[in-house]
Amino acid sequence: MFIVDIIIKKKNKLELSKEEINFFVENINNIEKCQISALMMAICLNGLTDDEIVNLTIAMANSGDKLDLSPLTNCVDKHSTGGVGDKVSLIAGPIVASLGCTVCKMSGGALGYTGGTIDKLLSLDMKTSLTEDEFLKQANEINLCIMSQTKDIAPADKVMYAIRDITGTVESLGLIAASIMSKKIASGAKNLVIDVKIGSGAFMKDVNSGRELAMMMKRIGNLCGINTVCILSNMDVPLGYCVGNRLEVKETLDILSNKGNQNLLEVSTIVATNMVATTLNISIEDAKNKVLEVIENETALNKFKDFVEYQKGDISLSNKQALNKLEVYATSEGYIATIDALTIGNISCKLGAGKVKLDDVIDYDAGVVLNVGVNDYVKEGDLLATLYSNNTINITEEEFDRAIMYSDKEVNSKLIYDII
Ligand code: URA
Repeated sequence: MFIVDIIIKKKNKLELSKEEINFFVENINNIEKCQISALMMAICLNGLTDDEIVNLTIAMANSGDKLDLSPLTNCVDKHSTGGVGDKVSLIAGPIVASLGCTVCKMSGGALGYTGGTIDKLLSLDMKTSLTEDEFLKQANEINLCIMSQTKDIAPADKVMYAIRDITGTVESLGLIAASIMSKKIASGAKNLVIDVKIGSGAFMKDVNSGRELAMMMKRIGNLCGINTVCILSNMDVPLGYCVGNRLEVKETLDILSNKGNQNLLEVSTIVATNMVATTLNISIEDAKNKVLEVIENETALNKFKDFVEYQKGDISLSNKQALNKLEVYATSEGYIATIDALTIGNISCKLGAGKVKLDDVIDYDAGVVLNVGVNDYVKEGDLLATLYSNNTINITEEEFDRAIMYSDKEVNSKLIYDII
């Protein structure tokens, strides 16, 4: 079999066989990068059939180690397709772990404007590289463990993702579905809730493509024995008030103390509710009541503190403040119609909170704290946000202003589009 024939077949819009897909994935380390990128582009332009997506996912999952979570009971995993200010894993994890589920999660760091869970844990000095034994022991003892994805989980995905990232081929639904689900299969997931982010600050820019991606991942999940629920949620606007690592941990503590941004609380509650309902096989209503109870009585807050301590972190670091700050003010009067997530994500990255290149060093104190949300009424000169960084802040007020749209009336916006 020759890789060039596989590329030509996909270029000609023909379906690849299981053997051809296996050949490509099994030999990925010996195939020229230009050939991988040609195939990625052909897939991006001509798509993948359902069978091709499933075959690719399984081949990628089989390309490295597999984690066996069978010694643990009621295991559940959660994944987000990536957004701005998305700290839902930090909030839902301890909630669900307080309710008899075991949250075992491997997570990635951030690249670009979307934040990564691992960076938030590192901002508290938590240990995130664990052995399999440490991972299982902690999950068994406190029901909650989040570690960095090891290089041996779905290594073919790493090769493909690095090439997709620089060849304009990330945005293929089939490739995204295979990338996410291959890692979930390899990391032993049995119950899985995926928060599919949709909007300006997400890969999926519209609800229809978000729904299509969700259906693909659900189908793969069903075929591979992973009970999968997809929640389609809004990412036109940052989730919550805080964007940036330590700032987001601080906001997590607020939500787990039953105060703070209502949209963030609602998305976190819905994600946690679905994790609990799916794993314990109980009704959504019962699961929701349990979720609200452990937020209310601070059991989940204490679980979060245990989790930070177990992974040798220092929760007091969430109070650390950056050396420099810049306040930005409203330039008009009216209702806030939008706070563009992509613009805020890019500003936060420029402040130092995210990585533009893989070897960039993250400033854990950097980020944006919004003082307003959508449909708040502001007068000219009201405080909109405070920007933080340990470096000189080079963001202009005009740059920030590009994220804001004002309206003379309240706008309709949906937080959750669908649950599939
Ligand atoms: N997240 C992933 O893990 N893979 C993709 O391809 C896109 C988002």
